[in-house]
Amino acid sequence: MASSWPELEKQYYLGVFRRAPMTLVRGQGTKVWDSAGREYLDFVAGIAVNSLGHCHPVVVKALAAQAQTLIHTSNLYYTVPQLRLAELLVKHSGLDKVFFTNSGAEAVEGCLKVARKYGKEKLNGAYEIICAQGAFHGRTMGTLAATGNPRYSGPFEPLPLGFVHVPYDDVEAIKRATTEKTCAVMLEPIQGEGGVNVPRDGYLKAVRRWCDQRGLLFMLDEVQTGIGRTGYLFGYEHDGAEPDVMALAKGMGSGLPIGAFLVKERAAVLVPGDHGSTFAGSPLMCAGSYAAVRHIISRKLPQRARELGTYFMGRLAAMREEFPFIVEVRGRGLLVAMELKGELAQKVVSAAWGEGLLVNPVKPTALRFAPPLTVTRRELDSCVQRLRRALQRVGSAGS
Ligand SMILES: *Cc1c(COP(=O)(O)O)cnc(C)c1O
Repeated sequence: MASSWPELEKQYYLGVFRRAPMTLVRGQGTKVWDSAGREYLDFVAGIAVNSLGHCHPVVVKALAAQAQTLIHTSNLYYTVPQLRLAELLVKHSGLDKVFFTNSGAEAVEGCLKVARKYGKEKLNGAYEIICAQGAFHGRTMGTLAATGNPRYSGPFEPLPLGFVHVPYDDVEAIKRATTEKTCAVMLEPIQGEGGVNVPRDGYLKAVRRWCDQRGLLFMLDEVQTGIGRTGYLFGYEHDGAEPDVMALAKGMGSGLPIGAFLVKERAAVLVPGDHGSTFAGSPLMCAGSYAAVRHIISRKLPQRARELGTYFMGRLAAMREEFPFIVEVRGRGLLVAMELKGELAQKVVSAAWGEGLLVNPVKPTALRFAPPLTVTRRELDSCVQRLRRALQRVGSAGS
């Protein structure tokens, strides 16, 4: 009865998460509070999910109104919020048709099914999908196979077949891996979970051209980069390399569990019976997501993320003088990583908790910053200040 929350978790919850030692109870904007009343500046933002910060009034209002009207119907009927959100995404994306999902992995699964069917119908049964080393596409069996990292998938083999992995940011490797059996290439515009790996300018465009030459589907997993995160509504816009198939999720609902995959007309191969979902695209989630996406677009938050991201990365990079163990600052918009010399990321993250800052160790040697797109310049400055104190602590402990 008097157990602490971590004790309750240990007793009742499947132990798959390595959780930070705090129980979050409330959030507003870029701030969250834990059960002990401590305040944190949240630069994790639900892992690049809370694009408008915590509990943005636009989202809360839309959810509250929809919750009192119609929450769920299944997809056996037309519902208004779903169709309004579909229209909004199609009109702003350059793709033609959308299907909603409950998560990023489901959105990618949809892309994989599109590629398989496309190959079967239009490419003589080709079924192989070329993916990148260092990618992350999700935790279901199909998306684990696409991820291709034995650290995630080892215990669950055998996985679905038909995935080939080549080095990221290397178009020649994709060309060499292409065979009669290839039906699609699937990439992240920036590898998020892989460490915020930013490819060279022109990479996506070159892959797009190769796919056109060979008749392959060019598929982008924009689950992390989409909806303004990297300074454009979609990550591909940086390179002008429009995909045939695209997965979205994280930032789409500013905290709501909703994703989508979108297809160009020529990849609209799924027909009745091919795919479905009980929960996905519910009136409640779609109303919330519609409010969030419309706000992001009308307030020009992608452009704002671009400007603030440049400012933020400049301030982080300037810390290299004071802290020589900072190797590199990289990113685009408000998806940013700081690479450290040695496996210091968790130490810095823990020290940052003491300074009231949440950041994420995206890999043992790198921190990831993904604040809400609504973050203010003052909050960026405050993050830099808190991070400086955390780095000082880690630096002095290490020397
Ligand atoms: C987070 C992520 C996923 C998986 O999303 P879930 O909602 O956790 O299933 C897939 N692809 C990319 C690029 C991601 O960042």
